[in-house]
Amino acid sequence: MDLLLNRDDLAFRDELRRFLADNVSDSMRRAIDLTTGFLIEPDVLIDFHRALDRKGWAVPHWPREHGGTGWTPVQRYIFDLECGRAGVSAYNASGSHFVGPVIIHYGTAEQKQRYLPRIRSGEDFWAQGYSEPGSGSDLASLKTKADTDGADYVVNGQKIWTSMAHRANRLFALVRTSTAGKRQEGITFLLIDMDTPGVTVRPIIGNGGDHEFNEVFFSDVRVPKANRIGEENKGWEVAKYLLEFERGGRVLAGQVRAQFAKLVRLMAARCPDDPAMQVRIAEIGTDLDAMEMIDLSVLSALQAGGNPGPISSLLKLRWSEIRQAIAEAAVDVIGEDALVWPVARPLYETLQLPPEDEAVLAATPRYLNSRAFSIMGGTSEVQTNILAKTWVGL
Ligand SMILES: Cc1cc2nc3c(=O)[nH]c(=O)nc-3n(C[C@H](O)[C@H](O)[C@H](O)COP(=O)(O)OP(=O)(O)OC[C@H]3O[C@@H](n4cnc5c(N)ncnc54)[C@H](O)[C@@H]3O)c2cc1C
Repeated sequence: MDLLLNRDDLAFRDELRRFLADNVSDSMRRAIDLTTGFLIEPDVLIDFHRALDRKGWAVPHWPREHGGTGWTPVQRYIFDLECGRAGVSAYNASGSHFVGPVIIHYGTAEQKQRYLPRIRSGEDFWAQGYSEPGSGSDLASLKTKADTDGADYVVNGQKIWTSMAHRANRLFALVRTSTAGKRQEGITFLLIDMDTPGVTVRPIIGNGGDHEFNEVFFSDVRVPKANRIGEENKGWEVAKYLLEFERGGRVLAGQVRAQFAKLVRLMAARCPDDPAMQVRIAEIGTDLDAMEMIDLSVLSALQAGGNPGPISSLLKLRWSEIRQAIAEAAVDVIGEDALVWPVARPLYETLQLPPEDEAVLAATPRYLNSRAFSIMGGTSEVQTNILAKTWVGL
């Protein structure tokens, strides 16, 4: 989609392109191209994040007093789009896009002072401890409990599907502090240091072969009450606020456009004259355009200091569908060659194949991994329920 950019926006875009050319190295780009999971390893992106921080661009979406840039929605959009084109994404979305806005909104002055600069600089890497076995969509049923002991909570229980917990030094978690009354009224939002005695991380390997998520166990983990966000038993409101940012607080267009461009190249190389595939890809492109317009309207709301609101559920729903459609079409374009993956995986990173061949090899694990898009951050059915309730009044 081509927006009509004014002169200032064009100058901004040129400056950004120069910055990206100077700071996204070939080795970084290759490591990203080789990534088949949905998250990029922190080691790959940290230098880029530090360069952003030096430039004052690490957390453009935050208020200026905490290091934000004050960009217009169009500038933010250009930033995300150009980063996607260059192949880079947020270093740690759980930090800068999820818990960062929560600390800004609900945190005490001490919490803001302690955590925000470390997210901005990349010193801290956050993971999200919401889901538990048996408590995913029905999150309010969570059981990990925190008992009061003097100035501390003592946490016992288990989280699951905790993305990048094996790389994180901090975790934001929902814990149960009361079983009286409504389930939602006994939940508290805590910030937990991963090196606290009693925290154990165990890997879960995804169906595409990547290690991205984990189980996290807590055994008598002492967490200072000073690490609580908001009031005790009022964590549900904080949790929901965060989810709006997780589902709709950032523009995914750049990343998704980059995947789409790869798909178009793949089709041109392998089945340029297939009319059914041309129609399918044109439909995906049209959906992308429509989603970008909604993204822009949400960015305007965020710029005015608001939170995304229920439209975040629509964004989450449609972006996950579009990303799945791209991954599925890639496998169909490749056909049976996509099945060589199980044999090729051990050699993948060492073979130094031409990019077209790498795209073929990566298609199957990316497809398998993409099945998770409609589950992570709340399933499609849950998003549909939220939209039915908030928009249609059902
Ligand atoms: C790749 C990936 C990364 C993740 N990362 C994290 C993370 O970092 N931190 C974290 O806390 N969690 C994470 N999750 C967990 C994720 O939030 C949950 O998997 C998700 O909320 C669904 O919960 P569940 O797996 O328990 O499925 P369930 O809730 O058991 O759902 C099973 C099925 O039932 C359907 N269903 C459930 N309730 C309803 C309903 N009321 N109406 C209609 N249908 C319903 C669901 O849509 C789904 O199809 C991740 C998940 C994935 C796949």
